Amino acid sequence: MAALSRPGLFLDRDGTIIFDRHYLSDPSQVELLPGAAAALARFQRAGYALIVVSNQSGIARGYFDVAAHRRVERKLDELLAEQGVTLDASYFCPHHPEFTGPCDCRKPGLRLFLEAAETLGIDLPRSVFVGDRPSDVEPGLRLGGTPILLRAGAAAPATPAGVIPARDLEHAATVVLGPEAER
Ligand SMILES: [Mg+2]
Repeated sequence: MAALSRPGLFLDRDGTIIFDRHYLSDPSQVELLPGAAAALARFQRAGYALIVVSNQSGIARGYFDVAAHRRVERKLDELLAEQGVTLDASYFCPHHPEFTGPCDCRKPGLRLFLEAAETLGIDLPRSVFVGDRPSDVEPGLRLGGTPILLRAGAAAPATPAGVIPARDLEHAATVVLGPEAER
């Protein structure tokens, strides 16, 4: 019953796929970052499962509810579908330790990554972990995959040892898949 194992592209959402609006809950504010959809399409064509793993502490803080979060997810799905991209799964942690106590799903916790790997049949060592914060890529270090930290913008975090820096998703696709072939 072992499903064919495929690599995953584990993606942070805010500041990685879409502009970071801080506690985004309004679908009309969902806007893809330049080049993001094209980069995801490349990973998809290369056989990667596209898996969003997002910390959404705005839910724990009472800023918005799960239904609002789902509306934002749907809007993102629609925008990506227009570009021929389909996410395989979207996971989120609704918690924050100050408001809801400790949990093991908030990144850099591994629970959602392990759950996705189990559910979707993901080969973690062949997987790529990309985000704009160290907590997005730390799971990649711990799970033996390829962690890529996006460093666009003035507040670019320092790149931890063992983590590959990239400007954006497009650059990450080039790092992992090589330069895009001329059409
Ligand atoms: Mg982010």
